[in-house]
Amino acid sequence: MTIQLYNTLTRSKAEFVPIDPTNVRMYVCGPTVYDFAHIGNARPVIVFDVLFRLLRHVYGAEHVTYVRNITDVDDKINARAVRDYPGLPLNEAIRRVTETTNAQYQADVTELGNLPPTFQPRATESLPEMIALIKRLIAKGNAYVAEGHVLFDVGSMPDYGKLSGRSVDDMIAGARVDVAPYKRDPMDFVLWKPSDAATPGWDSPWGRGRPGWHIECSAMSWKHLGEVFDIHGGGVDLVFPHHENELAQSTCAHGTQVMANVWMHNGFLQVEGEKMSKSLGNFFTIRELLDRFRGENLRLQMLMTHYRQPTNWTEAGAKEARVILKNWYDAIAKVEDEALGEAPPAVVAALSDDLNTPEAIAELHRLRGLAAKSKDAARALRAGGVLLGLFGQTAEAFRSWMPAGSALDRAEVDALVAERFAARQARNWAEADRLRDVLADLGVAVEDGPGGSTWRAL
Ligand code: AMP
Ligand code: ZN
Repeated sequence: MTIQLYNTLTRSKAEFVPIDPTNVRMYVCGPTVYDFAHIGNARPVIVFDVLFRLLRHVYGAEHVTYVRNITDVDDKINARAVRDYPGLPLNEAIRRVTETTNAQYQADVTELGNLPPTFQPRATESLPEMIALIKRLIAKGNAYVAEGHVLFDVGSMPDYGKLSGRSVDDMIAGARVDVAPYKRDPMDFVLWKPSDAATPGWDSPWGRGRPGWHIECSAMSWKHLGEVFDIHGGGVDLVFPHHENELAQSTCAHGTQVMANVWMHNGFLQVEGEKMSKSLGNFFTIRELLDRFRGENLRLQMLMTHYRQPTNWTEAGAKEARVILKNWYDAIAKVEDEALGEAPPAVVAALSDDLNTPEAIAELHRLRGLAAKSKDAARALRAGGVLLGLFGQTAEAFRSWMPAGSALDRAEVDALVAERFAARQARNWAEADRLRDVLADLGVAVEDGPGGSTWRAL
């Protein structure tokens, strides 16, 4: 089976042909770790995790290398460190900001059902590679030093702008570029900038300073994936300037035609029909939503829209996905102790068509319809869901999930259900009914069977 992918660079869908099928290489821009990730940030993580799973399925798990970086050098991080840890030396304060934010991020994306990438390099571990790239760019006439800064000379690259397909005038308007006096051209962008004594910095041939954002990804992808690799991904907001500039830096430094063969971008996520913003009250961190919805619930909701389309996160949509998932879990419960079988061909085919997750989900619905009568359909539903990163728990654990901050935790609900069952056995119907009402008030539905009672969160 071949995989078709839409390529931002060529603006068309084409068959994906890896450079080396024994080592398929993908790079996705990761978070800048200074604050909680929001639900929009979850989209590229989930989308490219599905692609990672598909590539592993097609080429073999050991033949895919996925790099998602952690940007731990950034002026926003420095500002946050000063604000949150005013008494600490700056380096220590920065370390705390990046470590706590990264730990939170890892916990969030794991709960959303994402596999760990093969490598998660931090920008601060690749300073030698950044400096080496900048030196090459200067030596080749693609970059120049001005007032302690090193700038990429956009005029030295005739086809600069080909990824975003913008004219230079559009780019200037769109990027609100900094027209600094030391720039030869307003579009020239920073590779290296000087640090004063109060700002983190590294020694370099151009004095003590720190890298620009774009060079970080060129260095980390080079270090882990080589000069040219297969797929580069991120959100559509990264096409310009970030990816355009990564591409310019890497191809000029290495003298290659391309940086990555395929560039993929997910569409943006809005919340309740509007751009997420703190002032509108529709800004949700992943953490906040995970207190109310299971990770798989949010994941399924995200995958119901094709990754290139804009998507609208709504409370109603989250509840709808919850009902679907519950329904699917009910159907697979009878086969969940078996070894996992092959993913159904129709699901693999849908994903191979530029990650058509809505189509894959439609196939899972169809299998759900057959599962009551067919164990094979239940098995296929389970294997197809697993390929999408769903069904990471047992049906029992799914049903008895309690939101964080609920009045009771699982063990307490178990105890109340057992107490009620004992009351029933003692034929104390009044007490059994009272406990049923208590549980219903707590959002728990009880179902009685011959050997005991089971429960699920409503
Ligand atoms: P940032 O931390 O802002 O650099 O974003 C990290 C990743 O999340 C990038 O790939 C962005 O393109 C992506 N991203 C940020 N906001 C959204 C959004 N509202 N919808 C979809 N993707 C987003
Ligand atoms: Zn990047």
